[in-house]
Order: sequence, then C-alpha cells, then structure tokens
Amino acid sequence: MSKKVFVLGSINVDLMINTPRLPEKGETILGSNFRISMGGKGANQAASCGLLGTETIFIGNVGNDDFADLALEDLENNFSIDTRFIRRKNDISTGTAVITQVDNDNVIIVDSGANMTIDLDQVHSALNEANEGDVFLAQFEVDFDLVKESLKLAKAKHMYTIINPAPANEIPDDMLKDIDCLILNQSETEILSGIYPEDLDSCIEAKEILSSKGVKALLFTLGANGCLYIDENLEVEVPGERVKVVDTTGAGDSFIGAYVSSMVKGNSIEASLKFANAYAAFNCTNRGARSGLKRFGTYAELVKGLEKFKS
Ligand code: AMP
Repeated sequence: MSKKVFVLGSINVDLMINTPRLPEKGETILGSNFRISMGGKGANQAASCGLLGTETIFIGNVGNDDFADLALEDLENNFSIDTRFIRRKNDISTGTAVITQVDNDNVIIVDSGANMTIDLDQVHSALNEANEGDVFLAQFEVDFDLVKESLKLAKAKHMYTIINPAPANEIPDDMLKDIDCLILNQSETEILSGIYPEDLDSCIEAKEILSSKGVKALLFTLGANGCLYIDENLEVEVPGERVKVVDTTGAGDSFIGAYVSSMVKGNSIEASLKFANAYAAFNCTNRGARSGLKRFGTYAELVKGLEKFKS
C-alpha cells in the first residue's frame, strides 16, 4: 500500500498590493496591482506534495466565508488535496495575510483566524486513517500545544514525524524526542541552536546541539547554497541549483512538499534531497509561492524543465 502524508497546518489567503511608499498614520494613498493569492505554510507544503502525486490529507480550519471557498477549491482542484478534515468555523475568518509591497520589501499583517481553532479531535479523526510509516508533517502557524499533542498521537501510530519550526519558536525537550526529522532554514536553525549554518561544519555543530535533545535527523535548507541532511548514519550535502531567480517566496515550502512526496514514493534520502532542491529552485524562477508550481513525474523531467532557467 502506498504511503500517505498528513499535513497539520495553516491555510491563508494573501491580499497583496503594491505602493510607492507606506502611508502615514491616518493617511490614504493609492496602490496598484492588487491581487489575491493562496498561502499559509501548511497549505503551501501540502500543495507541492499533492501536485507531485502523493496522497495528501490536510488537517486544518477555515472560516465560513468566501475566502474559505477560494482556498478549499484551490487545494482540491489544483493540488488534489484531501480536504475532508478541514473544518469551517463560524464567527471567525479564514486566515488572512495583508501584504503591502514597497519596491522589493514587504510589510505584512497576518490574522491567523480559524487556523488557531483546530482541535485534537480533528487530528484524532484524521490520524485514524494513518498507517505505520505514513508521514505526519506540521509547522508552527497553528496552535503550538496542538502540534505538540498531535506529534504524540502520530508517534503512537508509528508515523514518521517531520516538523518545520516556522515561524521559529523554542521547542521544549519533551517535544523534540517525538520528532523524527526537523527541517529548518538558516534563521530557524540560528534561533533553535544558536548557530548560523553555512557549511558542513556549522550544520554538524547545530545538529550536535539539537540531536543531544532527541531529534533523530536534521535537514537544513541553505537558500541558494542548497541543503544538507544529517542523521546518525548519513550526511548528504546537495549544492544549490544555479538558476535565474525571480522570487524566492515559498521556496522552503515547495522544498518540503517535494522532499516528503519523494520520500513516501520510496526514493532514497539522497534522491529525495536532489529532487526537492531542484523543485524549490524551479519555484524560485516564478513569482509567488504556489502559482509557478508544476507537476514533474520524475527527476529527469524536472532537470529538463529547469534547463532553460539555468544561470
Ligand atoms: P530556504 O528556505 O531559503 O533555505 O530555501 C529552501 C530551498 O529552496 C533551498 O534549500 C534551495 O533548494 C532552494 N532555494 C532557495 N533559494 C534559492 C536560490 N536563490 N537559488 C536556487 N535555489 C534556491
């Protein structure tokens, strides 16, 4: 039986506008290029995983509003996500990010809304369908205690647990022991270990600190420098792809979705890292977190797709 991925996470709708400068308090100014796009780290990671052909079950909440319709239709129709365990909540909005872009900078205000209302019963119902070896993946854009309790449930089911601690937050030791693999970017690594990872040595140093508390494997994403995986028996470094970068928004999320999808298809860690690294680089050649995602059946197809964007 093929393995499944259960994602516990956030669903957001991003409202974006461009402006030449930020308004003063009480001032109204004109903006341009208003657009609505779908986001939330949980939904972004699930989107890549589902698009790449892996059975992906989402556990989350939305409001009872028009944004919820948009978000759910997108997850179901464009990314083949199983949305049966996403609940609609009354009297609270779907998670929303209001993003103002000034030149290449953003100012962002997020209302987590319904994302903070997921309950453990919901996780229970979803994980009732999980088998040993299925993947449980979560980030920190939903209630922290819920993630902690859900991890315990996932471990009790003998699932492979992956945490992406974003936005970065301290992880208590009794939670670290339930994590099979921690996937972190450079700033998350620095916050959790005190070490900014740039190369093999600094990643090993960070790994020593975190694994002494019980994490089994660490996967560091290093932006343009690629990624590095370390567990007790294996060390794999994959250099970044040299591509014409348009926008790195969502690079980490597409990396994680692609890595998990490749793993559950039975590929080796090394092959999955290469696939994810190239897939995230491909995503950097398009604007937006999710709009440029494509389905590639094999690594060879992906490498071919990436060719014209090489720098
Ligand atoms: P980050 O979250 O910035 O560490 O990025 C996640 C992953 O996206 C990296 O591990 C790379 O695989 C890919 N990536 C990010 N930025 C770039 C870039 N400028 N060029 C190529 N790949 C990138």
